[in-house]
Amino acid sequence: MYKIALIPGDGIGKEVIPAGQQILQALSGMESHLDFEFSAFDWGGDYYRLHHKMMPDEGLNALKGMDAILFGSAGDPDIPDHITLWGLRLKICQGFDQYANVRPTRILPGIESPLKLKHQADLDWVIIRENSEGEYSGVGGRVHAGLPIEVATDLSMMTRAGVERIMRYAFKVARSRAKKHLTIVTKSNAQRHAMVMWDEIGMQISQEFPDVRWDKELVDAATARMVNRPQTLDTMVATNLHADILSDLAAALAGSLGIAPTGNIDPERRYPSMFEPIHGSAFDIMGKGWANPIGTFWSCAMMLEHLNEQASAKRLMQAIERVTAQTRLHTRDLGGLATTAQVTQAVIDALQPSP
Ligand code: NAD
Ligand code: MN
Repeated sequence: MYKIALIPGDGIGKEVIPAGQQILQALSGMESHLDFEFSAFDWGGDYYRLHHKMMPDEGLNALKGMDAILFGSAGDPDIPDHITLWGLRLKICQGFDQYANVRPTRILPGIESPLKLKHQADLDWVIIRENSEGEYSGVGGRVHAGLPIEVATDLSMMTRAGVERIMRYAFKVARSRAKKHLTIVTKSNAQRHAMVMWDEIGMQISQEFPDVRWDKELVDAATARMVNRPQTLDTMVATNLHADILSDLAAALAGSLGIAPTGNIDPERRYPSMFEPIHGSAFDIMGKGWANPIGTFWSCAMMLEHLNEQASAKRLMQAIERVTAQTRLHTRDLGGLATTAQVTQAVIDALQPSP
């Protein structure tokens, strides 16, 4: 029995997370050993309107005993984004020290990439994002507010322990993949302190992984390489800010933001890890039933892998791919007309072994 926390949050999060729950329930009905106990949390913008905070102060305690968290989106049209983001998603990521953000990207059957690829398999990446410090550490402030002499700072914090652990994790992920190749993304030409340490630690950790080939790329050059030579990349590791940007680029190159999944992982398993589609609340389509649930379903598959349910994860991924392969089951973001409910039902049907 796995205890799963559901946090739909805001906007289309409230549409795709129930769809994800339906998928997990369907899987559990088909596999006798697989059982879930779901707990839903109504945190987010509506909670904020009532309580002036995105989640209760002691909210992490309620999540602590869970095996995993399935998260929708934090972002409300009437609340500033830095409040919704820091008050909910980052509070959980940081409180549970989910220091590795993992973003697989590949082009699913039936989905068109804006790139002209010779083979779909030419784009098959995992981006590992440092998720606990760096540019998003929250250190900084503003003084002389509103005056001509106003000053504002956001300090990037890199710790040796923080860089060592993300490099080690990235090398492990690279080693688990067929190509066993890691690209360390950096900007040590312009940022000559923290990024130089980042490079040095990468080099040092590489010695623990003699079976992994690795190279180094400046982040600006990495964007061009992703577009022009996607087949030369496999696993990438980058800082919080760099990987944030690179992974949105990756999602767009793979066809749509609506498909891309992510996991916020505590590799030491001291706390529950959190899985979510990478898209946000999508104000322009919320409430219409048009949201693409595939990013959430792929996140559910990542969650199953994390729970060591490899066979169920594979079964779910195969069902997802059988559905994306049929363009009549594409949602509007992919140029189709299918609804969230139709895609969800189709994936449930595809979970059954083919006759
Ligand atoms: P967004 O991802 O919400 O939307 C960008 C565009 O992609 C929109 O046109 C939207 O309709 C489309 N889109 C996204 N997901 C889709 C899906 N599943 N199916 C179909 N179309 C989809 O990004 P944004 O507009 O920059 O942000 C809106 C709000 O969401 C903001 O408040 C932002 O802070 C928040 N946000 C939250 C997260 C998160 O919680 N992880 C991530 C990104 C944005
Ligand atoms: Mn982002």
